[in-house]
Amino acid sequence: MKREIQLLAENTFDVLIVGSGIYGAFLAREAAMRGLSVALIEQGDFGCATSANSQKIVHGGLRYLQHLNLVRMRESIRARRQLLTIAPYLVRPQRFLVPTYGYGMQGKWIMRVALLLNDIVSLDRNRGVDTGQRIPAGRIISRRQCMAILPCIDQDRLTGAAQWHDGFIEDTERLMIAIIHTAVQQGAVAANYVTAEDYTMDGNRVTGVHVRDRLEGETFNVRARMVINAAGPGAATLDAGLSQQPSDTPQAWVKAFNVFLKRPLFDDMAVGLSSATRHIDRDAVINRGKRFYFFVPWKGGTLVGTEYVAASPDDDSTNLSRTELEAVIDEINKLCPCAGIARKDIGFCHVGLLPANSADPATDAASRLLKHTRVVDHEATSSTQGLFTVTGIKYTVAPQVVIDVIDRVLARLDVHVARPDVEPVLYGAEKEGVETEHTYDSRLYNRYGCHYGDVLEIANSVRGLRDLVGVDRDTIVAEVIYAVREEMAVTLPDVVYRRTGLGSTGIPVRETLKQCANIMAAELGWSKARVSKEISSVESARSLSENRLIDCEQP
Ligand SMILES: Cc1cc2nc3c(=O)[nH]c(=O)nc-3n(C[C@H](O)[C@H](O)[C@H](O)COP(=O)(O)OP(=O)(O)OC[C@H]3O[C@@H](n4cnc5c(N)ncnc54)[C@H](O)[C@@H]3O)c2cc1C
Repeated sequence: MKREIQLLAENTFDVLIVGSGIYGAFLAREAAMRGLSVALIEQGDFGCATSANSQKIVHGGLRYLQHLNLVRMRESIRARRQLLTIAPYLVRPQRFLVPTYGYGMQGKWIMRVALLLNDIVSLDRNRGVDTGQRIPAGRIISRRQCMAILPCIDQDRLTGAAQWHDGFIEDTERLMIAIIHTAVQQGAVAANYVTAEDYTMDGNRVTGVHVRDRLEGETFNVRARMVINAAGPGAATLDAGLSQQPSDTPQAWVKAFNVFLKRPLFDDMAVGLSSATRHIDRDAVINRGKRFYFFVPWKGGTLVGTEYVAASPDDDSTNLSRTELEAVIDEINKLCPCAGIARKDIGFCHVGLLPANSADPATDAASRLLKHTRVVDHEATSSTQGLFTVTGIKYTVAPQVVIDVIDRVLARLDVHVARPDVEPVLYGAEKEGVETEHTYDSRLYNRYGCHYGDVLEIANSVRGLRDLVGVDRDTIVAEVIYAVREEMAVTLPDVVYRRTGLGSTGIPVRETLKQCANIMAAELGWSKARVSKEISSVESARSLSENRLIDCEQP
């Protein structure tokens, strides 16, 4: 997978996708799978924005029972099955537990009915899914069992707990690379650090995009028969250049965030606890009056979320105030008093913007979240042709939503290609784990799937490339080289945050960053000054003390 900018400038593509969050990446894979010629451009690194901040839960839609929204529930069930099938080395089933209290809306009986309905609606949830990846039926456990697993929660009126399974993506960044790699293998041209500045037009028809290569500073046009704007919060800015404004591109956003606690709270169990504050979900038919915080075990610690706060119109996703952060710490301590969480226990905050239906500050942020993905076919709503805008609301359903979008694109292009009957797997899942010519390495397998041998080949080529990078992480030197040569990593944050596990739970120590930057310098010919700049870019990108959290860094 190479960054071949000249291919973007030279060709006319069937489809050009702007933005490589989870929606852009899956759109590229789906379009390439259907035989279209595809270009994918991303202004930062692949998956560096909202998609880097998800809580990594692959929802099966149990929560939509509250809304009696079977359509949304079925979409989530299909998407969960799809993700468990196409990337088994990255997506796995995860056990969830929600304590039940009293005899009302939070009671055992209502949860028993909900789990039963969930199992019935998802009867086909394991069709075509490998044995180890299957989702078992839900069940209720007793008060005593619950207290043994969750000794730290409120036990007043506790009656037991509801248990079910959903999917979990251990490493969303590796999933992103696997999807793009798959699209590229099928002929797509993908490039990071390329910004779409404006649409190019021929009358009312969008003919492509005027872009800037942020690494070289050059500008040029990318031509396409159809453009799909999947730029997340950036979509409205791009669409603002059209003479006829689409009314459906979301203009309001809510800030959502998770915190990563550096210590485990509930072993290998994901736990949902009702927030202390009252919350009315206006769309729910069955209202529990509370919102859940999920505590998900991850990399030896716990991901807690999701919290929603208002985003001002000129906000960016990197800012989270100390008050907002402290409010969450308070909430966690109320839900789980013996945990005694303090600021020092927080490794990172994951912050992103989610589309909202209004910017009204009087309504609480969570209630303003959009409930449905927005897909705008501009030709259907205005005179603009050759353009779709797609705004996703959940990571989980992206692989399902894109099927419908590409069907509609194919119809507009007057091309008829059916989807394959059997869902093709992603790059890395083509073969079962073990490669006979290499020693099996489960850590590398969990990152690269069956292509871990390519990393081992580099590792075995020269002495020292199998060594660990730095002292505080489990990444080997060969992985850094592989990221540069085969995965389009061009900056130190790309490698640290989105190719290896070096920075997923905290900023590595300076020595580790230096070593990693020097390995990249040897590959990319960086000067000493560039090495220092790259190191500060990693250190400032996620530093809590400066209140700058996750965002796409400057190249
Ligand atoms: C804290 C948090 C927790 C969440 N937890 C979950 C969860 O557990 N499960 C779940 O299903 N969902 C979850 N979500 C929701 C999910 O993360 C989002 O719905 C999803 O990631 C949105 O993806 P996207 O591709 O639409 O947007 P993005 O990831 O924002 O992608 C858009 C991309 O477009 C690029 N771009 C913008 N403008 C331009 C331009 N002009 N030119 C080129 N590129 C451009 C951006 O750099 C960006 O990379 C969570 C979200 C948050 C914030």
